[in-house]
Amino acid sequence: MSKSKSSETVKVVVRCRPMNEKERAAKFERMVSVDVKLGQILVRNPREASASELPKVFTFDSVYDWNSKQIELYDETFRPLVESVLFGFNGTIFAYGQTGTGKTYTMEGVRNDPERRGVIPNSFEHIFTHISRSQNQQYLVRASYLEIYQEEIKDLLSKDQSRRLELRERPDTGVYVKDLSSFVTKSVREIEHVMNVGNQNRSVGATNMNEHSSRSHAIFVITVECSELGVDGENHIRVGKLNLVDLAGSERQTKTGAAGERLKEATKINLSLSALGNVISALVDGRSSHIPYRDSKLTRLLQDSLGGNARTVMVANIGPASYNVEETLTTLRYSNRAK
Ligand code: ADP
Ligand code: MG
Repeated sequence: MSKSKSSETVKVVVRCRPMNEKERAAKFERMVSVDVKLGQILVRNPREASASELPKVFTFDSVYDWNSKQIELYDETFRPLVESVLFGFNGTIFAYGQTGTGKTYTMEGVRNDPERRGVIPNSFEHIFTHISRSQNQQYLVRASYLEIYQEEIKDLLSKDQSRRLELRERPDTGVYVKDLSSFVTKSVREIEHVMNVGNQNRSVGATNMNEHSSRSHAIFVITVECSELGVDGENHIRVGKLNLVDLAGSERQTKTGAAGERLKEATKINLSLSALGNVISALVDGRSSHIPYRDSKLTRLLQDSLGGNARTVMVANIGPASYNVEETLTTLRYSNRAK
């Protein structure tokens, strides 16, 4: 049935971060347990203090606890997807979750510490190692970096950071961002440089980077083009695209009594995250003939990398402490719809 096919192309995993310094000092209770063998997350309900109340249980493709290592996630969950990009397929990795749960840690991590490097730098290493070992293929690697904020697209590599870009569609190539810049990179160092430039541009103009990143989606795109001489004597080209997406924070933006511009912004963030949830659950369900890609910029932009032959991994990040339980449950329910 389609179920087994989709479970190969769309994977949802959960990662719970460790308690931080503050949470430990304040002696917050841990409400989350992680059963790695069964792929289950268990959440106790803080309001049902009585031991008789059973925890809520959610099952995923894989789950990772606070001891999980970056390289472990890479090897088990991300490497097969990146490998498929090297062979000409498209792939998308999302980090989802409320602000402070580890989305950026999972995507970028701590770049100058090999142990704590996230999936983006690990994929750089993977891609260029693969290329250096190849014998009969020619590779061309290009990188783009963009941001979606309030349903507006910004090119993080452009000189003009005030410009907004448009989505266009062509019958032959599908949906694309008009005038998006892309840079050819020939080494890990070069592609890292591109990422640093984009990160710098992202923080410029943001008075509070944490607040800005909690309200915008950052998408790093790596295109890998491979040409190879076939037995027919002709050159064959295959192109794979890898989208690495650090999503806006999933916390309910409206609960703080936002008004005016803030409320409008909040509504847009929630809209694109719920559109993404709808697309992913329609893909996993496998029975829907209609996948609602058109409902947000994010899903339209990624249309050719979600579904079809493309692979998707969604990492849902959660925190362990009691004061996060409501958001944690919301994240688990959102991610669980994809099952
Ligand atoms: P988000 O991007 O979701 O807002 P961050 O990635 O910035 O969250 O993580 C918040 C803090 O928690 C950071 O200081 C980060 O280093 C730390 N952190 C997150 N996940 C982990 C983890 N798995 N192991 C160790 N520290 C983590
Ligand atoms: Mg972040």
